[in-house]
Order: sequence, then C-alpha cells, then structure tokens
Amino acid sequence: MILKDAYTEGIKKLKSANVDAPAITAGAILCCILGCEKEYLYIHGDYLLSKSEYERYCDALNRRINGEPLQYITGHQEFMSLNFAVNRNVLIPRQDTEILVEYVIEFVGQKQNVNILDIGTGSGCIAVSLAYYIKSSRVWGVDISKEALEIAKINARSYGVEEKIVFIESNLFENVPLQKFDIIVSNPPYIPNRVIDTLDRQVKDFEPKIALNGGEDGLDFYRKIVKESVGFLKPKGLLAFEVGFDQAQDVVKIMESSFKDIKIKKDLAGIERVVTGILSG
Ligand code: GLN
Repeated sequence: MILKDAYTEGIKKLKSANVDAPAITAGAILCCILGCEKEYLYIHGDYLLSKSEYERYCDALNRRINGEPLQYITGHQEFMSLNFAVNRNVLIPRQDTEILVEYVIEFVGQKQNVNILDIGTGSGCIAVSLAYYIKSSRVWGVDISKEALEIAKINARSYGVEEKIVFIESNLFENVPLQKFDIIVSNPPYIPNRVIDTLDRQVKDFEPKIALNGGEDGLDFYRKIVKESVGFLKPKGLLAFEVGFDQAQDVVKIMESSFKDIKIKKDLAGIERVVTGILSG
C-alpha cells in the first residue's frame, strides 16, 4: 500500500474507534515507523510501504485503539523542548511538570555549581532537563525502579549530560550518599489509592502503578520526603514539589514545620501545581 492511502486508512480506523486526534496519531505512528519527519508524509505520498512497515503500522494502530498511550507506541514524549525516550516502565512526562522545572531554573538564576537531587526520577525528565539547562549544575536522580533508571540513563546520554548526573537505585533517600544538596525536587506518586481505579484507562491500564500510587490519601511521599530532606539540604536549601490538583494546601501544611517562604505556583489551567519552600533555621 502507498503511504498516502495508508495514512487515510489509519485516520479512518482511529476515527471510527473514537480515538482522539486521529490525523496527528496516524501521522506520528507513520513517522515513527518510517523514521521520518511529518513533512515527508505529504511530499512522498506515493512511497510504497514494505510488508513489514505496513504490518507494524496496523499493529501500532490497534495498540492505540486498544487504549495504549501514543507515547508508549512511538517511544517518546517531548518535555521542556527535549525529546524523551519512554516505555511502560516510566510515567509519561506531563506538561504540568514543566512548571516545576522552570521554577527550579528560575530559582537557580546565576548561582553556580548547584547540587540538585531529584527523587523518583522515572524517565529522568526533570533531572535531565535541569542538567541540560543549568550549565554548572550537578544532578542526582533517584528511583526505586531499575528499569526506569535504564530509560533515564538513555535520556541523559541523548542530551550529553550523562557526566553531570549520578543515577542511584534507591527507595527515596535510602542509598543517597550522605551529603547536602542545594535543591531537592520531586514529582512523587500522588494519586490516592482508591482513586487509581477511576483514572482514564490510558493511565490506569498502561502507566506504572508504582509511579502513581501515593498511598491512602495520596500524600505519603510528601510526608516522607519532607521529613528526610531536612537532613539532606544545605541551610536555605530549596525543596520543590509537583502536587495533585487539590493537594497544594495539604502539602503546605506538611512543609510548614521545617520550611519557610512557602510558595505555590499554578499551572496553565490555573491549578495549584507546584509547592516550594526554603529550609528554615
Ligand atoms: N520524575 C518523573 C516525572 O516527573 C517521574 C514521576 C513519577 O514517576 N511519579 O515524570
């Protein structure tokens, strides 16, 4: 089948299965299989797909129709204008998380040689972006999942920052070397237990539960990280969290005993998304 016809057929198939953005989806899948840019699809509409290309295309369309997120099918997601490799062992980077990364970049400003610890690094989207955009930074990325760390390392290598980041397999602070950081950042799992089953099928059936589950009330990791970060931050060190849509005030309360100058940042939808504080004392 020629490219143009495969594209039209794919769009039709996705549309009749009520998949969002059928043209973008079919195009992204074709680009991924052919290893080409979007423009190629329009310029080379007469390109004859090989049998294997066509089969892989149909298989990918079916996976999407079955609810699998496009990012796991194509294997990547853009974040902070960088292209991150992802698979089912890691959470797909979200646009909301860019607010957290941007805040940290702004906080660092002209400061030199900052040490940053990212707890629950997953795909490494936060750690790699910070290492990439903050030139003199050194970053530690921690995750309990060995499989996630493999992806994070691939992403660090893609952007030439593997020398600036130390990845550590660790349950929170357990294996983090006893040293003081300028900044601790985290987008921890924050979905309350009982809510997980009500999430979109795309999320609950495909994204790693371990990256989502924040315990009974969703706040388990905030409590643990706040408590432990006191011993790992330099005086006036920054702790910066992403939080769930209704968790900002709860996280502020958790932080209040040991942090000052607590600030909340909203995301593009106006939702309180980031909570930050400076170690007091
Ligand atoms: N730090 C990664 C991200 O922000 C993973 C977060 C997680 O798995 N909870 O996407």
